[in-house]
Amino acid sequence: MTDRLPGFSTLAVHAGAQPDPTTGARATPIYQTTSFVFNDADHAASLFGLQAFGNIYTRIGNPTNAVLEERVAALEGGTAALAVASGHAAQVVVLQQLLKPGDEIVAARKLYGGSINQFTHAFKAFGWNVAWADPDEIESFERAVTPRTKAIFIESIANPAGSITDIEAIAAVARKAGVPLIVDNTLASPYLIKPIDHGADIVVHSLTKFLGGHGNSLGGIIVDAGTFDWSKDNKYPMLSEPRPEYHGIRIQETFGNFAFAIACRVLGLRDLGPALSPFNAFMILTGIETLPLRMQKHCDNAKAVAEFLSTHPAVSAVNYAGLPGDRYNALQRKYSPKGAGAVFTFSLKGGYDAGVNLVSNLQLFSHLANVGDTRSLVIHPASTTHSQLDDAAKVRSGAAPEVVRLSIGIEDKEDLIADLDQALRA
Ligand SMILES: *Cc1c(COP(=O)(O)O)cnc(C)c1O
Repeated sequence: MTDRLPGFSTLAVHAGAQPDPTTGARATPIYQTTSFVFNDADHAASLFGLQAFGNIYTRIGNPTNAVLEERVAALEGGTAALAVASGHAAQVVVLQQLLKPGDEIVAARKLYGGSINQFTHAFKAFGWNVAWADPDEIESFERAVTPRTKAIFIESIANPAGSITDIEAIAAVARKAGVPLIVDNTLASPYLIKPIDHGADIVVHSLTKFLGGHGNSLGGIIVDAGTFDWSKDNKYPMLSEPRPEYHGIRIQETFGNFAFAIACRVLGLRDLGPALSPFNAFMILTGIETLPLRMQKHCDNAKAVAEFLSTHPAVSAVNYAGLPGDRYNALQRKYSPKGAGAVFTFSLKGGYDAGVNLVSNLQLFSHLANVGDTRSLVIHPASTTHSQLDDAAKVRSGAAPEVVRLSIGIEDKEDLIADLDQALRA
């Protein structure tokens, strides 16, 4: 062994994994079991008291999931991670550690449509209030912060238009406010952007998208950067106050720079329950092995398709940060130099009806509500994912009536362009 630090592609294949110590299995086995036998009564007691690390019950942890957690923590440059059942589960588990009823988060207005729903309805019902800010206007984050603000939430590459967020500028606002910056890195994946390098304190993912990459398994993950001081001003009592169910330990004091990941596991996952199936963890791990190869191909194909669309007479605008004239091109070259991702939108001169027609006429593209599949996908946000928003909110979140969203897969780019060409003519 050399003392070289492994590169990203090596970590994508190896981080967290080793041959199975009992069988020699080289691929990570699916530990399809609910529970784990204790060595003896003392061992059981120490596991329950958080004095020892080990497996108890798959709702709280599982060896297959543990490999996935170590791998994504390594790829993101975090101290620890916690895998959960979906991207939405990751978001609720994170915020449950930080907010009490009446508290607030400041969230970027440009978010995945499902996150806008989750924040607006479910979180409101929990008494967690959301103040929306515009990621293109950093001062709007500053203005939205109040003494009850407990976190700032953004996407690195934002849905649905693939805009690039100035993470460092918003991280500076979070630091000044004394709250953690949470970055949803789903559309970028750590291959393109590592938010922790730019000041994020917590990274969340929908593993369902590019990390799993094959459109076959839901999952989510929370990565702890290990950077935030949770004890300051007693603002985060879940982390700083004694936990009666764990013999009075304080989570931050006991677990230091991976305290947040521990809190999400031993408080959040324990009580809310959205555990990831070990089978899904296995599928996602297999997907991650090829993340660097897939992601580069996704980006290269997306750029070719965006270039094609930008010269097409039926198209009025293309929002792809990888195009030289795009308003996010400078941010893309700073934050995501290997490519601008594979999810972007474009506008049709024919408006709402042309959008509906296009999705009906495409043959190779699948019309569905997902992104980050090997297959190319298309959706018309105004009639689907963003249909619940009023017209002004649709426009604000990048889902105006004439807008179509693409998630470009890893097929041959010539075939994707030919399919778009025939559908735009039809
Ligand atoms: C899909 C998605 C989510 C939600 O993830 P699920 O796995 O579907 O729960 C959150 N954020 C972004 C950016 C997404 O694309």
